[in-house]
Amino acid sequence: MNTMNALVYYGPHDLRLEDRPIPSPKKGEVLIKVKAVSICGSDLGAYRLESISDRWQPPIILGHEFSGEIVELGEGVEDFSVGQAVTANPILPCGECFYCKRGEINLCPNRSSIGTSIGGVTTDGAMREYMTLPAYTLYPLMEGVSFIEGALMEPLAVSYSASMVGDFGENESVAIIGAGPIGLMILKFLEMENKKRVFVSDVIETRLDLAKANGADEVLNGKEDVVAMIKDLTDNVGVDRVIIAAGVPDIFLKCLDMIRNGGRIALVALIHHSCEFPLMTVVARGISILGSYMFSDEIKDVMEIVARKKIVIDDLITSVRPLSEGVEVFNMLCDKDCKEIKVILTND
Ligand SMILES: [Zn+2]
Ligand SMILES: [Zn+2]
Repeated sequence: MNTMNALVYYGPHDLRLEDRPIPSPKKGEVLIKVKAVSICGSDLGAYRLESISDRWQPPIILGHEFSGEIVELGEGVEDFSVGQAVTANPILPCGECFYCKRGEINLCPNRSSIGTSIGGVTTDGAMREYMTLPAYTLYPLMEGVSFIEGALMEPLAVSYSASMVGDFGENESVAIIGAGPIGLMILKFLEMENKKRVFVSDVIETRLDLAKANGADEVLNGKEDVVAMIKDLTDNVGVDRVIIAAGVPDIFLKCLDMIRNGGRIALVALIHHSCEFPLMTVVARGISILGSYMFSDEIKDVMEIVARKKIVIDDLITSVRPLSEGVEVFNMLCDKDCKEIKVILTND
């Protein structure tokens, strides 16, 4: 009984279900029994890579979107108790640098991050039955928030932060590029007060249907001329803001064509490629280009939004499967016709 199931990443297309010893919490840590772990586009990205990346040095256990129950407290942990339901911020900041002192832990240059090898430190993630975590990373689940919802607090916080970057306020027009989990979550936050005109583009019809059901004013098939459609919808002016939530090549150039003069382009998708564009366009048209990476303390805000049912996220959870079927689930998600949005792996 001292071992547990763990889904271990050995490189692209190589995940293995293994027996691992159950860790014990060190000073300042807690042991949690993982109840639910959500598969992020980045986890899938690691699985689909052509070759091993510095971001995930095998062997590593992936998974940074999760919830669980505290089963043991390490020395010196006082603010939490056994039996408590929690989620966590996966960023492990240094706590001492310029950014950490300002609370901008997502920008800490010395950070590591759960389920990645960011910062040169491989930190095992949540695709296992038990894990230890520093207590400072934890957020108790509020009443009414299930373990499955708890596993989505991290991508919700990413999306909530991205939804606010470059916001022009009421009545602005926004184009969201990409209706995957992050794009759809951004849409939910933009629609929360229903005061904006939101267009959503994607190449998958079922995702566009979900965007429509979530209040998008127009959905645009990315296989068609999205720039022309947006120009049509905005009296040839362009949108106030574009949020790029899909890492497709060439998308940035199209965004320069669909944004109005003085508009703002926010990038949230992890885009790994480079692109060349005329800087004079940015200067002479007064365009702002903004990056949005992770979040600092926004789990608190999104937890409250979900607990108060100001947004509902059930429609994004398309499958719940046991962790033991993880390898099969990752292979299913690689299918090009896969219609899943968020898939959650659970432990009983
Ligand atoms: Zn993620
Ligand atoms: Zn720091």
